[in-house]
Amino acid sequence: MTESTFCKICGNALSAKDITLSTSGYPFSNGHRLREYCGAPLHLHCVEKWPDRIEFSKAYYEHRYAQFVKEGWYIIAEHEDWFVGFIPPGPNMTPPAGMEDLVEVRIKDWPFVLYGHAEKWTEFFLGQWREYHPALYGRTLVRAAMVVRDVQQILPDTNTIVEVINERLSRKESAVSSSRSPVAG
Ligand SMILES: [Zn+2]
Repeated sequence: MTESTFCKICGNALSAKDITLSTSGYPFSNGHRLREYCGAPLHLHCVEKWPDRIEFSKAYYEHRYAQFVKEGWYIIAEHEDWFVGFIPPGPNMTPPAGMEDLVEVRIKDWPFVLYGHAEKWTEFFLGQWREYHPALYGRTLVRAAMVVRDVQQILPDTNTIVEVINERLSRKESAVSSSRSPVAG
């Protein structure tokens, strides 16, 4: 417990007014030098200057990307250094109420995630993307804003997202029905 009151990068005590980032999950194996930073609070200004930032962020990014592929979740847009993911409802995946349309934006070189709702995608671009990270500032904020602008080029509105998701769903259904057809026939 006491550990979490210190920034893992600079080792200084955290105060309530400090702006921090922390991650969830462990993309590094036990014994990896970056393992101890996983889930730990990190000053945002320390992350900005941290030489390991890109390696750390990329591991989370690639881990999450692989998880999307493995689970058959939908990557609805991607670029060389970010992707937008949507987790479709499934037998093992019942989203909490109000979260059914949650979309996540992952960025390869920064360890934070932007969340938005497909139904309120216009609002996401108008500033709701900051809702989960209201305290972002400096280079981190600039980077987030750049990614949001890139995403807007590819997924400009709710209709575009719905079309992409429906297309993925219908592909899945036709795969299911064609695998069933030998049985039915
Ligand atoms: Zn620090």
